[in-house]
Amino acid sequence: MSESVELLQTLIRNACINDGTESANEEDNADDVASILSGCGADIEIFDAAPGRRSVISRLPGTNPDAPTLMLIGHTDVVPAHSSRWKHDPFGGELIDGFVWGRGSMDMLGHVATMAIAFRDYARSGNHHGGDIVFAAVADEEALSTKGTGWLLDHQPDAMAADWIVTESGGSSVGPIDAPLISSLSAEKGAWRMLLTIRRDPVHSSMAYGSVLSTQVAADVISRINQYVHPIIITDTWKQIVADWWGGNEDNPIMNPDLIDTLLPHIPILAAKNAFALSRMSTVVTGIQTDDSWNTVPAEIRIEVDVRTLIGQTLDDVYDHLRLAMGELADGVEITAIAGSDGSASPTGTPLWDLMTDAARIQVPGAELRPIMASGITDARFYRHRGATAYGFGLYSDRLPVEEIPRMLHGDDERVDVQSIQMMGDLWSAMFGMFGERTSR
Ligand SMILES: [Zn+2]
Repeated sequence: MSESVELLQTLIRNACINDGTESANEEDNADDVASILSGCGADIEIFDAAPGRRSVISRLPGTNPDAPTLMLIGHTDVVPAHSSRWKHDPFGGELIDGFVWGRGSMDMLGHVATMAIAFRDYARSGNHHGGDIVFAAVADEEALSTKGTGWLLDHQPDAMAADWIVTESGGSSVGPIDAPLISSLSAEKGAWRMLLTIRRDPVHSSMAYGSVLSTQVAADVISRINQYVHPIIITDTWKQIVADWWGGNEDNPIMNPDLIDTLLPHIPILAAKNAFALSRMSTVVTGIQTDDSWNTVPAEIRIEVDVRTLIGQTLDDVYDHLRLAMGELADGVEITAIAGSDGSASPTGTPLWDLMTDAARIQVPGAELRPIMASGITDARFYRHRGATAYGFGLYSDRLPVEEIPRMLHGDDERVDVQSIQMMGDLWSAMFGMFGERTSR
């Protein structure tokens, strides 16, 4: 069994589950990654953003200070799993019929394991030229990265400095076998965690007559937020992505705000979900909190709203649309932004894009890269906001069907095949070598 597969199994079994509370004990995965890297010749730094929230950053210095820095980022935390719904233990890391099963195998411990081994082996070889290469195994991506990449960039900017960034998503192949198209994540919607607070006089529930019930106000607010019809906006970023895949846009109904929603029921559900998400802001209630006992109508109700913005929309737009959604009810509701960031995009056709393409072609001759935009977020956004070029990339074998990937991410029966792990490791190795050649003086 390969060392990458063994490391992936270990990282899955460490179960660094991030449910947004104090810590996912990422120090377990960080320490295992650090011990793999130790002695490889690259500098290794370890940072704790909070107890348990440990990240490892390893920098292989280059020979050309004028060259860009290439950075591979993998997050070491995973989302929770409902084990009763899985065919195999989500934290067992079992190898069954050529697949490693477990939470994080796709998102994104397979990346972390292959990046770590490929980086170590390349550093050990001792003949690196060109720009610096950095590998970062970071905490807390699954809860907005406030104790991960976000914290590290604020507190350890020198360690995290990079110009070309590669992280999760993409890597799926479609199209003809002799000239496949491989996806790379180049753009992401914005994400804002918003809190709506409703305050009313507390009411004893046995004597409710004549009172305004906070629970009823909350129910009305929730209903309006979830059912609010956002305006459809076809952004330039999405137009460009559609053009890259299918050529011209003008007669494509998916680019027409008047036609797009009539089309959705007639296309595959996954495509419809994406087309809907990428053509408007979304505001979805994801949680309700109160503090009072069962026989008191609470004085305060807090409603959590997950808002996803289009590229170009800002936090001001979020406030505006939440107020519009609530209508006259907005007057009695306090709106607070807990955390978040705007959407981001990197252009295609950059030197990093070409590097990824050429490295992928070693294993997939004739391949071309195509950009995708995500309704979700990755750590790439921090770097795009800082003017760097950042993509999601990887490489998967044809044992891993493209249509299965979205179901496994944050879903059940997440697994990755051993051949994909091999391909991903070889991809990073090829990128390191080519980067060294292309950036040396
Ligand atoms: Zn992820």
